[in-house]
Amino acid sequence: MITILSGGTGTPKLIQGIKEIYPEEEINVIVNTVENLYMSGGYIAADIDTVMYTFADLIDEEFWYGIKGDTFIVRERLIEMGTEELLKLGDRDRATKLQKAILLDEGYSLSEIVEMQKDKLGVKATIIPMSDEESEITIVTKEYGEIEFHDFLIKYHCDCEVLEVKYSNVSPSPKVIETIEKSDKVIFGPSNPITSIRPIISLEGVEEALKEKEVIAVSPFIGKSAFSGPAGQFMNAFGYETSSKGVAELYKSFLNTLVIDNKDAEFKEEIEEITPKVIVTNTFMKTIEDKINLAKVVLE
Ligand code: GDP
Repeated sequence: MITILSGGTGTPKLIQGIKEIYPEEEINVIVNTVENLYMSGGYIAADIDTVMYTFADLIDEEFWYGIKGDTFIVRERLIEMGTEELLKLGDRDRATKLQKAILLDEGYSLSEIVEMQKDKLGVKATIIPMSDEESEITIVTKEYGEIEFHDFLIKYHCDCEVLEVKYSNVSPSPKVIETIEKSDKVIFGPSNPITSIRPIISLEGVEEALKEKEVIAVSPFIGKSAFSGPAGQFMNAFGYETSSKGVAELYKSFLNTLVIDNKDAEFKEEIEEITPKVIVTNTFMKTIEDKINLAKVVLE
């Protein structure tokens, strides 16, 4: 049995490879929830839904968000009636989010709701929200002061200097610690180290549980750049180098193995001074073969 820690883009790509070669019912995924929010009556747990749709082969791989081939009838009508929405929600995806809000209102926990929804989609893997509590995430920028995370991403296109990333302190959901404890291996996919993974490893008891396990991480960096998104800006704000070496530093108290890209081979020895084992391979996941090859590396 394995546990994967995930955000909503890099790790789901790796999950596509892992699920091809590892029994799905033995996969647990602990998913970031700090970016969750209510919008237009729905509860948006974007990373959870992306992981759920990835297992169900429904994910829109162009955006790593929403359901492929979805329609946008409700969104278009809302805009016609004068309601603007920050996030672009398709109709079928919106139903997932509306159902979450309805069930939360009825008193179910997010963990219970995710279990119900993933069962309906025929997903055999276990998907665990890192927390059942509500949280907030804001970005302190030089240009605009403190702004909402989604405004940073969508309104400002990440085009600002990040001074600080702030998110709420929440408690782990009931299955988080026991799932890590009973896993043979814990895999950190190449997700954003600051906004996707750090919130999970900061949960009470998680770091201690990880220290007892074999932990392998895939770096989301090549050289000084992230494959996509604002991970570099966030690493800087926390005083870490924007590179695989920075990732090794961030995870050093528990990490056994770091997987870095072929293009970073020259840094292997330097990183091995921080992390006991460094594996150099192709970490750019474009095709399903890339994903399966990387999955083999992390599983073996
Ligand atoms: P978010 O929740 O949408 O921010 O997504 P994640 O945190 O799961 O993933 C974002 C990270 O995935 C970024 O830092 C990217 O550098 C990384 N990423 C995206 N595609 C790839 C890829 O093909 N290979 C690797 N190694 N990293 C990737």
